[in-house]
Amino acid sequence: MSQVAESAAQPARMSSPSASDASESGLSSQANSRTAPLSLPWVERLVSFDTVSRNPNLSLIETVRDALRKQGIDATLTHGDGGTWANLFATIPAHDGETNGGVVLSGHTDVVPVDGQKWDSDPFRPEVRDGKLYGRGTCDMKGFIGAALTAVPDMQRAKLARPIHLALSFGEEVGCVGAPLLIEDLIKRGIKPEGCIVGEPTSMRPIIAHKGINVYQCCVRGQAAHSSLTPQGLNAIEYAARLICHIRDIADQFREQGPFDELYDVPFTTAQTSTIEGGNAVNTVPAECRFAFEFRNLPTLNPEPIFARIEQYARETLLPKMKREHEAAAIEFTKVAAAPGLDAAEQAAITQLVRALTAHRDKHKVAYATEAGLFSRAGIPSIVCGPGDIQQAHKANEFVALDQLAQCERFLGKFIHSMSIDAHTR
Ligand SMILES: [Zn+2]
Repeated sequence: MSQVAESAAQPARMSSPSASDASESGLSSQANSRTAPLSLPWVERLVSFDTVSRNPNLSLIETVRDALRKQGIDATLTHGDGGTWANLFATIPAHDGETNGGVVLSGHTDVVPVDGQKWDSDPFRPEVRDGKLYGRGTCDMKGFIGAALTAVPDMQRAKLARPIHLALSFGEEVGCVGAPLLIEDLIKRGIKPEGCIVGEPTSMRPIIAHKGINVYQCCVRGQAAHSSLTPQGLNAIEYAARLICHIRDIADQFREQGPFDELYDVPFTTAQTSTIEGGNAVNTVPAECRFAFEFRNLPTLNPEPIFARIEQYARETLLPKMKREHEAAAIEFTKVAAAPGLDAAEQAAITQLVRALTAHRDKHKVAYATEAGLFSRAGIPSIVCGPGDIQQAHKANEFVALDQLAQCERFLGKFIHSMSIDAHTR
């Protein structure tokens, strides 16, 4: 509830006088039908690419690359496995030609699947209805990317004191698999941005911290036997259950003993088992059980020791017991996805800049992970701020409100000005 109240109150403080009154008084759809956000064509174009994470994103990336090339900007692509996925990094240089330093505007180009969801319109044919743009990725997060691309000519005209970079990634929704390649390439080329704004949907409020996410798959192997001969087998499900209970014990410990950070909805590190499968017949001792678990750590907490506790319990407590029952015993872990948490320094220039531009002083921390943690870990201070409400992300009939896009455009306009010589010689 507090989020809703805040995001509703927010535009009054940062929007331009011309548009603010209408959008604040609930007349936004009326206002928007009169003046569509300038970024709408770009956002619609991006949404029309079906870039569900499992699908290649190369045609979207090439479209952006070609559009930038027409504006005299050469982008660098870093490719994922097989070359059909790519990240894009492009720089709008400072007025003196400087391409190092500056600020990155970052977004992921992949979207979550629409399988099994009931949509009222084709998720990949964006549609404006009642002041909202519907389509997969409108909110998470092609709205921000479209707004940033629309602003490129303004960046070129602005006499920038410092460069502005665009970073578009792939594979964010499946565990941030693309961004590390892009960041690695920046490091290799000696490019050191001073800050990064990740435009995930935050209703244009700066998010200064989020939890880390760590997802693992575990496979417990036993020995099959007829159910009447249980001592001859090794029941994989029973041992998987013990491990799952251990994970729950760890979760309970965090819940009871902390550490705590009350600025999060859930103010402690969480852990849970999310999927499980095992066994193949009611009259057979199950030889295998697989389950997935995750933990979301407060950014101030190192996630490695949490996993180490789980792994150690499996290795030192469960496995010896299992081995005594049958030598086939094994417990294997695979890391499926991980993204570090974000804990932006209050005094970091990027934090102060985004706070100033949005006129938001409140501290907001969220439980969902973003690529900001990766940039931050690479020494690039980062903050999350973008159009759209995270509540609309990942769902059927995902949308971004047009006044959120307009608000993002105004934010980028102010951002560009703040990066220009004019702002520095004032
Ligand atoms: Zn996202």
